[in-house]
Amino acid sequence: MEERPYEALTVETLARRLGDLPALRDRIGDPAGWRVREVGDGNLNLVFIVEGDRGGLVVKQALPYVRLVGESWPLPLRRSFFEYHALRRQQARDPGSVPDVLHFDEGQALVVMEYLDGHIILRRALIAGTRHAGLGERLGLFCARTLFRGSDLHLPAAERKADLALFAGNVDLCAITEALVFTEPYFAAPMNRHTPGLDPIAAELRADAALKLAAQRLKTAFAARAETLLHGDLHTGSVMVRGDQVRIIDPEFAVYGPMGFDIGMLIANFLMAHCAQPGHGRDRADYQAWILSVIRAIWTSFAAEFARLWRTERTGMLFPRTLFEDQGQSWAADAACSGWLGQVWRDTLGFAGLECHRRILGLAHNADFESIADEGLRAACEAKALVLGRTLLLGQDDIAGIDALIDLARDIA
Ligand code: ADP
Ligand code: MG
Ligand code: MG
Ligand code: MG
Repeated sequence: MEERPYEALTVETLARRLGDLPALRDRIGDPAGWRVREVGDGNLNLVFIVEGDRGGLVVKQALPYVRLVGESWPLPLRRSFFEYHALRRQQARDPGSVPDVLHFDEGQALVVMEYLDGHIILRRALIAGTRHAGLGERLGLFCARTLFRGSDLHLPAAERKADLALFAGNVDLCAITEALVFTEPYFAAPMNRHTPGLDPIAAELRADAALKLAAQRLKTAFAARAETLLHGDLHTGSVMVRGDQVRIIDPEFAVYGPMGFDIGMLIANFLMAHCAQPGHGRDRADYQAWILSVIRAIWTSFAAEFARLWRTERTGMLFPRTLFEDQGQSWAADAACSGWLGQVWRDTLGFAGLECHRRILGLAHNADFESIADEGLRAACEAKALVLGRTLLLGQDDIAGIDALIDLARDIA
């Protein structure tokens, strides 16, 4: 399309600038009738919903700075390129899990994708208290399929290495994770904030050397253990639901890293939703039990699908069948799978603990807690998640499995 310098779209200019694209007009109809609104509620980008006579679509465009902070914090437009490539891989590895990509323009840093009509952001659903059948199972499948199929357990080595190199270019978004998740929550960094009542516990966590060491060991794993292509920002604000339909969005933080990063971040956001329920002012015990059942389903469906793929799609260079199955030693391959899942579990606990801390003490907070107007009540809910986070970080080797995690969460909130 246009060979012109990057320019941010507006509601007024979008139809004029994109109306000639066949991918768009064939799908939704004559641009003269397009209705455009900007709905971006995220921290970083512009998101437009465009509706025409024959349907709708979404245009997501990167801005040259961090939306949450403003032009004082520049951020490369190239994140759109990584989001596009990650969406295509996720679509191939777990068909139907993400919106279809209809068009990509690297120069304008924009992705045109399927409009998830009638879907709402999962975080909003968890605040409103709605239930979605099969949610945890679907999320567990997404994790297993994308994480397994992006790794050296499955991909030809040359393909995996090329992808590793490609996504290694996502330096700036990765740097945000490295600072905001692993480091800044644990000292008085300038952009941090927290609810006033949390001063004592924040000070306690920041003085806890064992905790900071655990955080830096996990940062080492994140930086060095390039197991697979991660979504990189898999929280409940990156999931959209409509009844029992589930879609994953927003993989602009995609990078190679340890499998437990995605699963840990995802589970942590359900743990925080669980801790926040008393702040949402309804009789919530049943709903809390439902949230815990979703966490259980995420892990059990992840582990079951991962083990199935281990048996049926282990075509990469790691743990080759020539050494095991082909010599009548399937039991050894099975043992290796259990060992791999054990490592993912320990990582999951650690990354989940970090996520609980950074959403409460760092820069980027979440609506589960932010929507609790009463500061005292909010601090009480957040304090539970902070304690739970520490328990997970320090208990990586001791919390034996999903039942133990669910018990801990139930006891705390
Ligand atoms: P950011 O990277 O800025 O966080 P997101 O990709 O998370 O942007 O999108 C921001 C918001 O736009 C989402 O919370 C959601 O409400 C809406 N949105 C994004 N993609 C779609 C889509 N394909 N269909 C419908 N709404 C979408
Ligand atoms: Mg987002
Ligand atoms: Mg965001
Ligand atoms: Mg994003």
